[in-house]
Amino acid sequence: MTPLDRWLNRRMGRPAPGPPPGPEELAAWQMARLRETVTLARRESPFYGQLLADADPATLRAPADLARLPRMDAQTLRQAPERLLCTSQDEVARVVTLSTSGSTGAPKRLFFTRADLDATVDFFRHGMELLAAPGDTVLALLPGASQDGVGRLLARGVEALGGRCLCCPEPWDVPAALALLEGSGARVLVGTPVHVHALARLAAARSPGPGPVRRALLCWDTPPPGLARRVETLLGCAVHEHWGMTETGLGGAVGCGQGPGMHLREADLLVEITDPATGAPVADGQWGEIVISTLGRRAMPLIRYRSGDAGRLLPGACPCGSPLRRLDTVPGRLAAGGEPGRAALDAELLALAGVLDYALSRGPDPEDLRLDLYLAPGAADPARAAARVLAAPPWGVPRPVVRVAARDGRIAPGFAKRAMPRTNHGETS
Ligand SMILES: [Zn+2]
Repeated sequence: MTPLDRWLNRRMGRPAPGPPPGPEELAAWQMARLRETVTLARRESPFYGQLLADADPATLRAPADLARLPRMDAQTLRQAPERLLCTSQDEVARVVTLSTSGSTGAPKRLFFTRADLDATVDFFRHGMELLAAPGDTVLALLPGASQDGVGRLLARGVEALGGRCLCCPEPWDVPAALALLEGSGARVLVGTPVHVHALARLAAARSPGPGPVRRALLCWDTPPPGLARRVETLLGCAVHEHWGMTETGLGGAVGCGQGPGMHLREADLLVEITDPATGAPVADGQWGEIVISTLGRRAMPLIRYRSGDAGRLLPGACPCGSPLRRLDTVPGRLAAGGEPGRAALDAELLALAGVLDYALSRGPDPEDLRLDLYLAPGAADPARAAARVLAAPPWGVPRPVVRVAARDGRIAPGFAKRAMPRTNHGETS
């Protein structure tokens, strides 16, 4: 039985060292928690009091009943997030403000009580038990400065399982991150796909073959196809993937290492995959929009919140035996026939030998795309190969300006989600 199943049993009030619930029992328990959430939200929050005025919580019995509730989206979190509050401002322990890069709209704001943050630490603790044992050192390539920032919450989870967690808050200085890795004896690595990949490339260049890292967790951003396997080869370790967003309380789903996909945080989240146009559920295995409802979140519950992320649930059971459903790790696209995404370009450019990272920008002419490459020390210049990638479909940029921005191991700073740069018309491409 996995650590996540012990967590689920405890949260459901079942004997922790016993068999996990079956899928039907879990679904029924989630619907009971959802009824409580809807009841609380209607009573305490002006926004939900209006939105759910006609909703009768008692009629929410089976997952199919969810489709009767309206969906909400990020606009609500931009316009008047205080109207979603179900507690007093005094009970709010942390407010997260999220400005979207390139967007001129108001930032999203999310509120969490101490208990909400503790629930995230509890999920991190049991999720990290899939990777780390008591006594292990974990190196987190994550912002760790603020009191309840993601690095601190992860460190609290690792400490709760008996491990030690070091934060490397500026992982774009890859040589410094490598020195920290080598000096700390860390056996577990956590970070964004690009940061972990760059560190793995530098570590393998210095000493090829398996190093001290046994397991790595890729979080924060969706790994492009091929990157996880390359990290496994470079570091000689197992790679787990994580999906989450601030709206899910940072943690959302984590790979168990025994089967494909990531097990959902179902004691705290009810996840649906829906048709983006209608909100109707789609079958397991089909792509759709990930829609989340929080279960037990105190400050700001979310009910049928449109994540904007594409995803699909893997049909069938995981070899680990957990009843927690699994989200696919392969990045999807919401709009069929839409623009080719950054993940596809990441897959091509980060696969080129010696490329640690890259940055895209647009010149004054919309056709003018500039590509800055960040290379490992001693790497051959891949500029021509990179230009060929951009010139080929689906990008078809005839004359990209390709430059080498750095070849000392450093990469572009920041933790921003990776997206394609906007054109002068304000459209992504
Ligand atoms: Zn599993």
